Amino acid sequence: MDRDATCWCGDLSVTLRGEPTLVSSCCCTRCQRRTGSFFGVTVYFHPDQMVARRGTPANFQRPDGVTTFNFCPRCGSNVWWSSPEWGDVLGVAGGAFADPTLPSPKRMVFTATRHPFVCVPEGVPEYEDGPPE
Ligand SMILES: [Zn+2]
Ligand SMILES: [Zn+2]
Repeated sequence: MDRDATCWCGDLSVTLRGEPTLVSSCCCTRCQRRTGSFFGVTVYFHPDQMVARRGTPANFQRPDGVTTFNFCPRCGSNVWWSSPEWGDVLGVAGGAFADPTLPSPKRMVFTATRHPFVCVPEGVPEYEDGPPE
């Protein structure tokens, strides 16, 4: 199945082929600031599953060099990101799919900074800190 991940204005869009390797939600304070929401959702794919569709991203590299974020230079939406520490996966913003049929998150990480009203769905493992190895 092909799914498109697109920024708010539509200038930046990529197609993801096949199923994600993992869908994960994260309550860390960096994801809160990055998204403007109370948690971020990362949909992981292998890099070769992603095909450029439209636009050229602007980039922001975290000062520690761990993660590079790709966002729309016009509207600012963060569409995907990658890290050399992750091996053969990149992360795509769950909301960029705007698709309720997207598989739901299979874990929630950094719940130490979870806002109290954000519920952990029944059966979804939660981790106070980072993801398990
Ligand atoms: Zn845009
Ligand atoms: Zn996070």
